[in-house]
Amino acid sequence: MGIKEADSTQPCAHTAQSPALAGATAYPTRCSSHCCNFRLVNSDTNEKRGDELKLTILGNGAVRNGPNQAGSGYLIQHGNTAVLLDCGTGVFARLQEFLEPKNLQMAILSHTHWDHCCDLMPLRYLFCSRAATDPQASRPYLWLPPGGKAQLDTLSVLLQPHDGPMTKDFRSREYTPDTRIKLGDLAISFAPMTHYVVSYAVRVESPSCSLVFSGDTGPNAALPKFATGADLLLCEASCQGYIKDPRTWGHLTAVEAGIAARTAKVKRLLLTHLRHSLDPEVSIKQAQKEFPGPVEWAREKVVYTV
Ligand SMILES: [Zn+2]
Ligand SMILES: [Zn+2]
Repeated sequence: MGIKEADSTQPCAHTAQSPALAGATAYPTRCSSHCCNFRLVNSDTNEKRGDELKLTILGNGAVRNGPNQAGSGYLIQHGNTAVLLDCGTGVFARLQEFLEPKNLQMAILSHTHWDHCCDLMPLRYLFCSRAATDPQASRPYLWLPPGGKAQLDTLSVLLQPHDGPMTKDFRSREYTPDTRIKLGDLAISFAPMTHYVVSYAVRVESPSCSLVFSGDTGPNAALPKFATGADLLLCEASCQGYIKDPRTWGHLTAVEAGIAARTAKVKRLLLTHLRHSLDPEVSIKQAQKEFPGPVEWAREKVVYTV
């Protein structure tokens, strides 16, 4: 996995000393210390084979996002297949920077907290307008957690009664732990997590690589089991340090994200959903103490390849 565009031509001191250099052909990857954008990629990567999953961070924020930061939103592309994971605050605008929205085939919500779903409303109106001029135009699938359809429709009818329930403007479905979706060459599956509301992790697999998104969750045994062997774990790390009583808490710290990544034996860990007031560099260091592989902060508007 690497960043699409490196803006340095020479590695910094950290990268030059990286053990990864020893086994890698010198394709650039970003410095794990974040002081430059130089990057290293092994010569035998999916990127070179043209079978990579592209992951674009549209928004990495939590419920109170900071300036120029969006809520939860991740665009996954594989060939011409495009899937949006979560559609939180500001994600619709960001999506248009990377994809013509009519080319979006599917949106999936990990759960219906506001920072993960509120920009479904503008997305919905895009497809309403399109249907008005072209009734044959296809609408994207919208996959929701159990109970999600009723929640979104109740809310949308309350706020915009003249437009009816929101989910009719998509091909809406609710997934369960047993749901397996096939879209293009992608296989998508789900696992329930531990949060304040029903919340799921999502696993996306291409023929040669895999990515797991934790959604929002507290510590639990299901996450590392579900993420076992993934090439990339995109994991929430809302907090730092240790939580005194995880039974009353619905999020992970960076330490706990590192433990989940280590237990799952994933290849890389990408931290996201950090509270705006916290320093991502501290989170990276905390996760690195638990997880021996590469750890990065999911930077907005950066395209990662898996
Ligand atoms: Zn959240
Ligand atoms: Zn949440």
